[in-house]
Amino acid sequence: MERKTFISLLVMLLCLGWGFSMTAMAQCPQDPAPVQNPAKMWTRSSSALQLKDTAAVKAEMEKARELAGNDWYFLQLQRLQCNDVDESNTVVQPPGVNLGGTGWHEVSAVPTKVFDNVYYVGGMEVGGWLIDTGAGYIMLDAGYDYSYEEFLKPNIRALGLDPAKVKYILLTHTGPDHIGAANKFQAEFGTKIVFNNTIVNNPWAPGVVTTVMPDGATLTLGDTTITMVLTPRTVGGDGFSYFIPVKIKGKRHLWATYGNTGINGPLANISVYLQSMAKFLTYVDNLRPDIAISSHPFVDGSIRRMELIRECDDRHSRHDLCGPHNPFLIGERAARRYFEIMDQCAVVRYERAAAGLADNGLGPYSPPAP
Ligand SMILES: [Zn+2]
Repeated sequence: MERKTFISLLVMLLCLGWGFSMTAMAQCPQDPAPVQNPAKMWTRSSSALQLKDTAAVKAEMEKARELAGNDWYFLQLQRLQCNDVDESNTVVQPPGVNLGGTGWHEVSAVPTKVFDNVYYVGGMEVGGWLIDTGAGYIMLDAGYDYSYEEFLKPNIRALGLDPAKVKYILLTHTGPDHIGAANKFQAEFGTKIVFNNTIVNNPWAPGVVTTVMPDGATLTLGDTTITMVLTPRTVGGDGFSYFIPVKIKGKRHLWATYGNTGINGPLANISVYLQSMAKFLTYVDNLRPDIAISSHPFVDGSIRRMELIRECDDRHSRHDLCGPHNPFLIGERAARRYFEIMDQCAVVRYERAAAGLADNGLGPYSPPAP
């Protein structure tokens, strides 16, 4: 792959994965790369990508790499959150279909029963998690508006579930990748959409009505009580993170999702991100989750981890026999480390911004064209 094409893939990664604001989307160039294989998330550049990081950035990056260790899903998380490039010039790109002149299109992941009471019905790029509470479903994020008919409802039905039972959708943030389909659920089934503020004039969800919850609130449906924490990533921004009780082979565990994955400059925004993460870590220390999952499943190997669960199901035909360990059950210490990696990568990105470097570390910062 030529360097130019590779750089454009990196730009696409930044555009799609991080900062789903309208301005960010508007600044994304039309990517000329060929259609991606949704299953192929790692791309190797044939030419060296030289990070221009200062000694201060490198020192912080080294801490992030140490936190990731040799765990492949942690390495994937670290590489993406830090915008890191290693010696092999390998980067993760968001899976999906490139439509050439008309942009990029989300594709479905394989619907999967992940825990006793949790199902994945979402896409390869943005999550769609269904929690069965015994009194209807709570859904964590939903996807793009077009994903609703294309695969969200079909995936729910493919798992023998009923989309009309989606009582609540919890939003992590309000980009088109999370709110578009939520609005469709609300229109068809009266689903309540939970967020930290009202969402008005959102071009991806016209007329959407939110159930506004305060910072630190809990929501109970059936046997499930979810805690939500306000974790904005920008000055004046919004976004919720969630702690969700789940069952694996009948045992109770706690899953944590940090709501605002992407880190957006300038410096003042990254400061807000760091403050949000510091607050979130106090919740992690109090509630002690043993499962950590991104709202974007390509970010932390969730797609592959679901594949492992399905392979096991294929062999045993029974979800409850699946392996000695569920690949998402990583334990309290590793779950904390997961969020420490996100936190440390925000430090890396802060140092980069402070040094006047571009977000991807490949050159000096240049403000976007007006
Ligand atoms: Zn998103």
